Formats: sequence, C-alpha cells, structure tokens
Amino acid sequence: MRIVILGSPGSGKGTQAALLVERLGLPHISTGALLRDAVKSGSELGLRAKSIIDKGELVSDEIVSAMLEERLGQADVAGGFILDGYPRNVAQAKSLDVMLERIGQPADEAIHIDIDPELIVARIAKRAKEEGRSDDTEETVRNRLRVYEEQTAPVADYYAERGLLTRVLGEGTIEEILQRILSILSLNPGDD
Ligand code: AMP
Repeated sequence: MRIVILGSPGSGKGTQAALLVERLGLPHISTGALLRDAVKSGSELGLRAKSIIDKGELVSDEIVSAMLEERLGQADVAGGFILDGYPRNVAQAKSLDVMLERIGQPADEAIHIDIDPELIVARIAKRAKEEGRSDDTEETVRNRLRVYEEQTAPVADYYAERGLLTRVLGEGTIEEILQRILSILSLNPGDD
C-alpha cells in the first residue's frame, strides 16, 4: 500500500502517519524528518536547510526531491510506504509521479487531514513544548501556514483530479482520526 498523507502544519499528519506505519508495518518516509536528520548531522546541506526550515519556508525542490529519491531507492520501500511531508507543491507532486513510476510503485491513495485553522495554533504550541522543534515558534508557524495555503493546498486538488484524494476530518481524538483513515483504506480494527 502506497499512501500519501497531506495536511497543514499542525493537522496531525505526522502523528497519523506514525500510527499507520505501526499499524500497517510500512516504512514512514517523512521529508521533514529526513531534513531534520541532515541538520543534526551538521552537513553543509543540513546547515543550508536549517535556516530555511527555521523561517518556515520550503527547502528547494531540488534538494528535497533528491533526498526523497535516494530514500525511495532503499529496499524496504518495495512493500509500500507512508509518505508524509511531500509533495509540498504541485511541481513536487509531478516529480513524485515520475519517481514512483520509475520504481513501479505509483501512489494508491492520498489522504488529506482537514483541520480548523483555529485549532492549529494550539496544537503547535503543545508540540513546541513537547518536542522543542526550532520551527514551532509563533512567527515561523504563521509563515508555514501561509506557505501551506499558497503552495501546498493546490496539491490536494492535484490528487483530487486524479481520483486519488480522500479528505478526513482531523478533529476528535487521535484514535478516532486513525479509525477514520483505516476505514478509508478499508482496514477495519483488528484486520491485520
Ligand atoms: P514537516 O516535518 O513536514 O512539518 O517539515 C518541516 C519543514 O521542513 C518544513 O516547514 C519545510 O521547511 C521543510 N520541508 C519538509 N518537507 C519539505 C518538502 N517536501 N519540500 C520543501 N521543504 C520541506
């Protein structure tokens, strides 16, 4: 199963992706996590990426797509994946189609987690306390939301036009949201 998880910052997409990974035994491919690892490693690419991430802007398509392509080349991807954080714009969505076509693993499903913008700020403030992410400051979050609206929201339309998109209400408990996603994937509790 090859699933793309979409949603604004604070929509809970990372949390749901991690739960799906546990549940379905698929690799979790998060471009945000790949970038944070690069930052931690102190590489030149990581240092360049850090200043962009901390401003809430998108790292260049070239860097992120190369990073993703390398990850998609690893053996564990053969059985499917949960992709979280990519594509962030329509150009990336098109690149993803090409990359997945090349490895014979086209996306089966794109799930967009819908969330009331009013809830986002509170959720991110909570995560900032729990995880200490350097891009969870108020100013950066505001910018990330603007970038999302301008560049990432059209990605949902891209998948909708291809008949691959399902929207899920991202409100309620984490477990309730997970069950909604599993039912879209026709995986009911205890199925696996
Ligand atoms: P995330 O963990 O998905 O919220 O990503 C955190 C930050 O990493 C984003 O705000 C971007 O700066 C950067 N990032 C993650 N994925 C991408 C991507 N696909 N394209 C560009 N930048 C990305």
